[in-house]
Amino acid sequence: MISYDDALARVLAAVEQSLPAEAAPLAELRGRALAADLLAPRDLPPFDNAMIDGFAVRLATTGSASHEVALTLPITGEVAAGVAPTRALRAGEAWRIYTGAPVPEGCDALVMVEDTEEDEDEPGWVTLRHGGSPSFIRKRGSDISEGALAITAGAALGAGEVALLAALGMAEVSCPRAPRVGLLTTGDELVPVGQALEPGQIYNSNGPALEAAVAEAGGIVVARVHARDTAAETEAAFDALSDCDVIVSSGGVSMGDHDHVKAVLEARGGLDFWRIAIKPGKPLAFGKVGSALFFGLPGNPASSLVTFELFVRPVLKKLAGHTRVLRPEIRATLATPLEHSRGRREFVRASVEWRDGIGYAAPTGAQTSHRTHSLVGADALIIAHESHGDYAAGEVLPALLL
Ligand code: AMP
Ligand code: MG
Repeated sequence: MISYDDALARVLAAVEQSLPAEAAPLAELRGRALAADLLAPRDLPPFDNAMIDGFAVRLATTGSASHEVALTLPITGEVAAGVAPTRALRAGEAWRIYTGAPVPEGCDALVMVEDTEEDEDEPGWVTLRHGGSPSFIRKRGSDISEGALAITAGAALGAGEVALLAALGMAEVSCPRAPRVGLLTTGDELVPVGQALEPGQIYNSNGPALEAAVAEAGGIVVARVHARDTAAETEAAFDALSDCDVIVSSGGVSMGDHDHVKAVLEARGGLDFWRIAIKPGKPLAFGKVGSALFFGLPGNPASSLVTFELFVRPVLKKLAGHTRVLRPEIRATLATPLEHSRGRREFVRASVEWRDGIGYAAPTGAQTSHRTHSLVGADALIIAHESHGDYAAGEVLPALLL
C-alpha cells in the first residue's frame, strides 16, 4: 500500500508532457490552458483615446485655466468614438470629444465636461474651469504593448483572458487538445439507467457520474464500455479503449473472485501500483494499457468519484497543459466533531459554510463508500490525517475546495 502523496506524485509523473496543441477558437477556451506564452501581437489600446466626455485642448493654451480664472475658447471640432480626426488640433482650439474617441494630434490634455460651461447665448464657445489633464488620455499601448507577455503558458483561461484575447483581435489561440477519455464500467449487477431492474440488479451510476466528472475536468469521453465480470470481457474492454489518452474504469479492483480489472492489468504488465492508504478508495489500481494511462477506480460510488477527484482530475489537467492541476487547499474549521480512525488518510465529503471569511466544514452525511447521498452538495473534502484519531468540533483541518 502506498501513501496518498506517493500515489499523487506517481500519477502526475506518468504524464511526461501535455497533449499536442491545436488551434482553439475563443468560444471554446473556457477551462483550457495555453500551449505557449502568448505575446501581444499589437498595442492595446491601438491609438490614444479619450477616457472621458469633455474637450480636447492643448496645455500650452489652457494650462492656467482654473475654477477662479476661467478661459473661454472657440469649439472648432468634434471627435466621437469610431471616427478618426481629419486634422490636428491647433493652439487656441477646444474640440468636443467623447469617451473612446481617438485623441487628435496636437492635443495633450482633456478637460472633463463637468469642468466646463457653455452659454446658450454664445453657441460655439466653451468656458474651461480647469486647464485639462493628460491622464484623461488613454495612451496607445498603455494596457499592454506589442510584444509584451499577455498570458502565460499553462494559465487557466476564462472570461477575463477571452476579453484580452478578443481586444487584441485574436480569433483563436494554441491549446493542448483535450484529453480523450474511455470509460469502462464493470459488474454483472449493473443495468443502464432507463431499463427496468430485475431482482439483485442496481443502476450503473458510476458511468454517468464519471462522465460528468470528466467533462468538469476538461476531458472528452470518447468511448463507453461496460464489461461483465469475466476476464474475457475485461480483456476485450481494455483493447477497445487502448487508443484513448486515459482509461477510467470502475469496480473489479478488489480481492473478490469476480474482480478482474487489476488482474488483467497486471497480466499485461501494465500495473504501476495498487492500493493507496486512503479512505475512501483504497483498492485503486494505476498503470498503463498501451499508451493510455489507466485508472482502475473502486466500484463503490463515493470511492470512485473521490478517487477521480484526487488522482484522475489532476492528470487530465496536466495533460491539457494546466500549470495548476490541484484544487486549492484551505484551512477549514470543523463545524461538528469528526470520527476518524488512524491508519489511512481520509477525504471526508463535506460542505463549507463561509462566515466572516472563515470556512466552517461539516460532513455531508455518513461516509461509508457505497453512499451516494453524501456526494450531494459536497463542495470540499476535509483531510483527516492518518496519524490522528477523532477530531473535535472547532479543530482546524486542511480541506480541498472543490
Ligand atoms: P466492486 O469493486 O466491483 O466490487 O464494486 C463495489 C461496489 O460498488 C459494489 O456494491 C458494486 O455493486 C458497486 N458498483 C460497482 N460499479 C458500480 C457502478 N458502475 N455503479 C454503481 N455501483 C457500482
Ligand atoms: Mg464488481
